Amino acid sequence: MIEDRIQRQVLDMYGEVDRAVTAAGPICVASGKCCRFKEYGHTLYLSNLEADVLLSNAPPYEQPVSADFCPFQKENLCTAREPRPLACRIFFCDPSYQETANRLTEEFLHRMKDLARENDIEWRYAPLHHFLNHEAHTNPKRERGPVSDVQTPGLPRSRVGLV
Ligand code: SF4
Repeated sequence: MIEDRIQRQVLDMYGEVDRAVTAAGPICVASGKCCRFKEYGHTLYLSNLEADVLLSNAPPYEQPVSADFCPFQKENLCTAREPRPLACRIFFCDPSYQETANRLTEEFLHRMKDLARENDIEWRYAPLHHFLNHEAHTNPKRERGPVSDVQTPGLPRSRVGLV
């Protein structure tokens, strides 16, 4: 687990993200499809810092978690709204917003990576199900073997960069 102080910094950053997204005003038709990854045809990537905040604050979920959908979506709604990661906050399917989404993703992922570096936390970036199945409540400063399919992002294969 990362320190509370760093978790608060991540949550503060989420506040900034939310304000930037609200200012951009993307349209959401609340289909819930974007959280059903296989149906939508994309993968949600996140960093270990975001995963830590999510796992510390989200409701319990059943394991194993598949790559097909997010276990926190219930009846088309997110049950982990406060701690949901960057891509969940930034992604909207509104075509007129995609350039803004890419810009916000790049900016805030860089800032998240800087936060990890400043605090001597190993940077890891992987699909959601990897963290939910393998990395729950581990110490980010501890030495670990590689998690398969982990990548270092430029622009990610995330909900913003569809796969
Ligand atoms: S955490 Fe919430 S917004 Fe993100 S994929 Fe899961 S249900 Fe959707």
